[in-house]
Amino acid sequence: MSARPDWALCRHCRAVVYAKRLARNHGVCPQCGGCFPLTAQEWLDLLADRDSLRPLDCEVASADPLGFTDGVPYADRLAQARAATGMPEAVLCARLSIGDTPAIVAAMDFRFMGGSLSGAVGELITRAAEIALTERLPLITVTASGGVRMQEGVVGLMQMAKTAQAMQQLDEAGLITVCVVTDPTYGGVAASYAMLGDIVIAEPGARFGFAGPRVIAQTIKQELPKGFQTAEFLLERGFVDLVSPRGALRERLGRILSVGGRRDTAANVCPVEQVVVRDPDQVAEQDPWDAVRKARHIGRPTTSDYFRMILDDFEELHGDRVGGDCPAIVGGVGRIGRDSVVVIGHEKGHTPADLAAHNFGMPNPAGYRKAARLMRLAAKWGLPVVTLVDTPGAYPGVDAELQGQATVIAETLRLMGALPVPLVTVVTGEGCSGGALAIAVADRVLIMENAIYTVISPEGCAAILWKDSSAAPTAARALRVDARSLLSLGIVDGVVPEPEGGAESDQTAAAALVRAAIRAELSDLASRDPGRLVAERRARFRRFGAGPGYVPQSAAALSHPGGSQ
Ligand SMILES: [Zn+2]
Repeated sequence: MSARPDWALCRHCRAVVYAKRLARNHGVCPQCGGCFPLTAQEWLDLLADRDSLRPLDCEVASADPLGFTDGVPYADRLAQARAATGMPEAVLCARLSIGDTPAIVAAMDFRFMGGSLSGAVGELITRAAEIALTERLPLITVTASGGVRMQEGVVGLMQMAKTAQAMQQLDEAGLITVCVVTDPTYGGVAASYAMLGDIVIAEPGARFGFAGPRVIAQTIKQELPKGFQTAEFLLERGFVDLVSPRGALRERLGRILSVGGRRDTAANVCPVEQVVVRDPDQVAEQDPWDAVRKARHIGRPTTSDYFRMILDDFEELHGDRVGGDCPAIVGGVGRIGRDSVVVIGHEKGHTPADLAAHNFGMPNPAGYRKAARLMRLAAKWGLPVVTLVDTPGAYPGVDAELQGQATVIAETLRLMGALPVPLVTVVTGEGCSGGALAIAVADRVLIMENAIYTVISPEGCAAILWKDSSAAPTAARALRVDARSLLSLGIVDGVVPEPEGGAESDQTAAAALVRAAIRAELSDLASRDPGRLVAERRARFRRFGAGPGYVPQSAAALSHPGGSQ
């Protein structure tokens, strides 16, 4: 290792920092919290549980496939980089454990020729992935790179395809992949394995993208928006799951690996409290319009409130990886009792500012794409999905239409119809229209006592059919939007009771009832294989409108459970 100066200059706040203090702080500036670059070895040391770090012994020799020289022969540049870093190449691979979960980690080092992607770097990343595949371990990559190494020409370029294939094989095997993106990560590394992790975690302030700002400025002379290509900027645009301070990273990674790890589902079948009411006669009658008003009560727990109260180890995941992070849909991973779950729900908020920030619980297409992405993650990791429904509908706006609102809702319906894991939905407030159903194609659909489920808002129905929106109460009665009616119609499978005075009067008690209801359904579904789950789910929705006594031919599928996807 090269000797380090006693003092370092922070590029974020321009403070001069004592190097030993900086090292104790894992390279985080004590003045502003900005991140200094770490070496690959420092990354491995930072992430590994005590005494768990073992280097992977894969000998990969760097090559000079083009006999390249730009005045200085490439071979000499390699020798210089090796001497300066003490590393054979720009990545170090190791096996270690994080929060007691064993994993394979490949950490890049920007000091070695700008962390460039050479044949050897691509080979080391691929071998790390192959070891993860053989041993069925999670793969974590820590990236820092300017892009493909020019000195290896197209051989370097091919590493993008090779590493992307390696990531795909881990996807097919259902193994967890996490990418930790550090400053800077650009070009061929960003556009291959760095962006293909199940979870993408970025360091605060880390810059990443395909074309760097200088390239953009030089080639198309476009002015760049403020904060362009920083982790925070990209989080808002849906490309990053979370931005984590370096000091919290090991704990959060440990939590994600532990929640995402596969477990024996049979071991999770345990006696659970039965709180769900399945007989319509046991549900108190109420005027559907009263139910509408109760379902919209501003004091009812929101989806985020329920997540906070019913989940352990919850980690919220952001973004649709396409260009947005819709605040009207929240989701992530966590645990309900011993069951790991993926959770998704509409989020409204409580205060006027909150409501506006969450778009009143009306998702735009990015929201449904986020939901779909989380469902695919659940399918890959083999985790059940729990969705909470509380929306006045999908966002009706020009932008939403231009971004394909109808298309994304349709695609989410189709995705849920074939998802090979258990799905449980609870309508906790307003279940309105296709915007609600889009995340409610579940094996079990429950509704809370004072929640509603309807094809259109009673006001909207009154305006269209009664030509008078003040006829909303009449419309609500005609539409039979209340829990008791929905249970008699078979639209829901059960009603979750609410505390005296409604969920808004005792949020903790309401959450306990929702939690117990979900646990009972998950426990009941745990023993079903994917083929049976999908066949039964399809049959559940196939029967609406079929008429009494009609047995659809597709019901035959029930006796011949199909594939897992
Ligand atoms: Zn600083």
